[in-house]
Amino acid sequence: MKPLPGRPASIGRWISVCAGMTRGLGALLAMAFAGPAAAQSQPAPKLLVVISVDQLSSDIFTEYRGLVTGGLARMAGGVVFPAGYQAHAATETCPGHSVILTGSHPARTGVIANNWFDLTLPRDDKRVYCAEDPAVPGTASGAGKYAASGQYLLMPTLGERMKAASPAARVVAVAGKDRAAIMMAGKGADETLWLVPGGLATYRDSAMSPMARQASTAIAAAIAADSAPLNLPVQCAARDIAIALPQGGTVGTGRFARAGGNFRGFLASPQADGAVLAAAAALRADRKLGEGAATDLLIVGLSATDYVGHSFGTEGAEMCQQILSLDRDLGDFFARLDATGIDYAAVLTADHGGHDLPERLIQNAIPAERVDPALAPSALGAAVAAKLGLPEPLLYGDAPFGDYYLSKALTPAQRSAALAEVRARLLAHRQVEAVFTADELAAHPMPRRSPELWSVKDRMRASFHAARSGDLVLALKPRVTPIAETGVGYVATHGSAWDYDRRVPMLFWRKGIVGFEQPNPVLVADILPTLAALIALPVDTAAIDGRCLDLVSGPATSCP
Ligand code: ZN
Repeated sequence: MKPLPGRPASIGRWISVCAGMTRGLGALLAMAFAGPAAAQSQPAPKLLVVISVDQLSSDIFTEYRGLVTGGLARMAGGVVFPAGYQAHAATETCPGHSVILTGSHPARTGVIANNWFDLTLPRDDKRVYCAEDPAVPGTASGAGKYAASGQYLLMPTLGERMKAASPAARVVAVAGKDRAAIMMAGKGADETLWLVPGGLATYRDSAMSPMARQASTAIAAAIAADSAPLNLPVQCAARDIAIALPQGGTVGTGRFARAGGNFRGFLASPQADGAVLAAAAALRADRKLGEGAATDLLIVGLSATDYVGHSFGTEGAEMCQQILSLDRDLGDFFARLDATGIDYAAVLTADHGGHDLPERLIQNAIPAERVDPALAPSALGAAVAAKLGLPEPLLYGDAPFGDYYLSKALTPAQRSAALAEVRARLLAHRQVEAVFTADELAAHPMPRRSPELWSVKDRMRASFHAARSGDLVLALKPRVTPIAETGVGYVATHGSAWDYDRRVPMLFWRKGIVGFEQPNPVLVADILPTLAALIALPVDTAAIDGRCLDLVSGPATSCP
């Protein structure tokens, strides 16, 4: 494919600075010429490649499906489930990534949100980040202050199961975000890496491999360098329209120009995914994943689509450039894998979908609005405390939706009065769809029907964990963006109980696969048992929420 003008450094160029990555390639090339075995007798793949594209909604996949020619096009030529469901209500990054390789809803994984509150924590900061260990002295939940950890993940991951079954199996995860790498890899992976301003990082008590350090140095140099504006691909021209933001500025016409050292700008650009894919390819080669006795697992978390969506919305020139660059970089990544001759099976999905900013939705035929700041837990708590004469802070919560926690300093009578008043105020608000108490959700049965049929209460139940969820859980109405103001950061988001945030593609590919399309809804939780079946790894499906999806078109099956 002819390169698009002005595209950022291809992953091939990235890889060239990760020295040593070509070692071992070529020895297995002859295998690439062996024809695929009959489906029913196909041996286990030697390598599983799991790719999460953060915020890649089914809507964006559909929008760009006809424009892609690289790695996304390859995946779209395999077994395609365009309506995979992250079925739960709290469609955030940490819960979504906890589902992908555990086969379980957040109610079971325990990862109910990116952040929740534990008012019994001994430290001053009662907010908990999903991928931290708050017991580490001197830490807090804010960026750069916490100790990264997978301790809150309550279900075993695919990698943990593979290692338990075969200690020779190796598991490597690299992602743009720590929570993506940690929630997909689980505990005991050989290497778990994520992007930081200094390149790559891992757990504070772990040492990075020499190859990871080399990749980190290369990425740090890229972050530190200025980045020139991209030339707009012709396919993106129709989306290149400036949208004015309420607090000033515009989005829609960005080109990702960036001053050296601007890490946030790096993350919200196609460069970030190129860096992660290059590091993944280099680590695969260095550790010879897919070349050993057991099947290995390579986990890749691509976060730039999410940062682009949050920073610029989903329907502008920025997202168009991001998706086309991702397609190209994924294609380069797969070409590197193909060149090894390793029999690998790949799946690509997302942790949640996404939604455009209200200002462009309105221009493009859909009524939408931003949330009323009075719904924020702090504002609502102050109003209720003033009315009832209760001590402040009364209400804790991370956002103007989701989990709301009542102060532990209340008497039982105060608590019951506050709960009733908060609930009444929420239910009376025109932007509120539903409010349930923890007791109501605990008593609600786990939904078992197809996910498009779930009620809002069903969706909240799949996100509910008694020890971690709020005393009240709030769902906003559809198309209410829970970002009140655009002036201080993000302009668009996800996290709602609505299908634009719940539906993601699930794409399976393997050399020789006979592709088919299945438009009916399936669960992202189905990925774990589906991949486990490919490598004959037993999974007790009564203990998880997903089921094996038969990837063989015809009477044979890939499931047990
Ligand atoms: Zn995400």
